[in-house]
Amino acid sequence: MERVVIDDLSSSSALDVDRRGLSGPLDTSDVAINHYRIPPGDGFPSGLHTHVDQEEIFVVLDGTATFETLPASDGADAHAEPSRTGREIPVDAGEAVRFAPGEYQSGSNRGETDLVAVAIGAPRESTDIRIPVGCPECDGADLGLNTGGDALSFVCPDCGAERVPAPCPECGGGAMTLTLDDENAVVSACEDCGAEFDAPPYRD
Ligand SMILES: [Zn+2]
Ligand SMILES: [Zn+2]
Repeated sequence: MERVVIDDLSSSSALDVDRRGLSGPLDTSDVAINHYRIPPGDGFPSGLHTHVDQEEIFVVLDGTATFETLPASDGADAHAEPSRTGREIPVDAGEAVRFAPGEYQSGSNRGETDLVAVAIGAPRESTDIRIPVGCPECDGADLGLNTGGDALSFVCPDCGAERVPAPCPECGGGAMTLTLDDENAVVSACEDCGAEFDAPPYRD
């Protein structure tokens, strides 16, 4: 048996978000588990993404999480309507939500009090992470995240095409994220100036 006092752990996030990993202290074998405290206006540290090789569960303990979700890509028809249309789901304290492998999600705190939640992923390790953006070369599969190189890049799992994301073309800021617009379509949005684009800007 392993036991941990969450208040005794230190945050593993460099952002304002308080993220405390429990997998290590509890020495879990099959699940990843993290405790979050997220101030109003912040979110779980990722835009719209999915783990093709992992299911994710969020248990909301305090406040309200608002999740943007998008169905899993279904291959050739992935970019046809309405499969690229997402929706928003509020998850209140006392509620939990589960995202299947391949289902896109991004959670944030749009309330006025801190959001406290526990995130659970299984299996513990995930290496196949995708973004809801089709490959610009073969117009096929959703691009995968490659975090192994010097810089983050997107790699097509079908044809191998690689793209390196560029800063915001409007303001030069580096914080581009994938989110839903007012019509619940996927857009690449700048966290600094709010500019929105149909696809992420890429470096040449
Ligand atoms: Zn491709
Ligand atoms: Zn910008």
